[in-house]
Amino acid sequence: RDEEAAAKAAALNVDAGAPTIFDKIVKREIPATVVYENVKVLAFRDINPQAPVHVVLIPKERDGLTQLSKASERNKDVLGELLFAAKVVAEQEGLVEGFRVVINDGPQGCQSVYHLHLHLLGGRQLKWPPG
Ligand code: C5P
Repeated sequence: RDEEAAAKAAALNVDAGAPTIFDKIVKREIPATVVYENVKVLAFRDINPQAPVHVVLIPKERDGLTQLSKASERNKDVLGELLFAAKVVAEQEGLVEGFRVVINDGPQGCQSVYHLHLHLLGGRQLKWPPG
């Protein structure tokens, strides 16, 4: 929808250095159901779940990583940490039949929070191609 596209485009103009809602979750200023945490990564249940299991995994330090397309060489380690953490959480959530990991990037990718994150989705038969 046009409205949705406009909202997503507006989000792109947000100051890349401005804190997002995810920074507040990291600082425990707003509540979230945390399911996994290590030094680099925080994982919590999505407030608007799209599957029986829907976990969002974020780097605790955004370090310029507003979105995947802004990644630089120095972010490579944390990108690996996030993907590996997704595997650990999938195991922890008992997703033995499979799961999906998604990164939405930019307006056409339907990104709404500009602090890089992975979605871990599972617990039902997922469809392909996605919408
Ligand atoms: O990929 P995208 O940027 O659209 O994903 C952001 C996700 O963060 C959404 O799925 C949204 O439901 C979730 N969210 C959340 N808790 C918040 C704000 C957003 O789980 N407080």
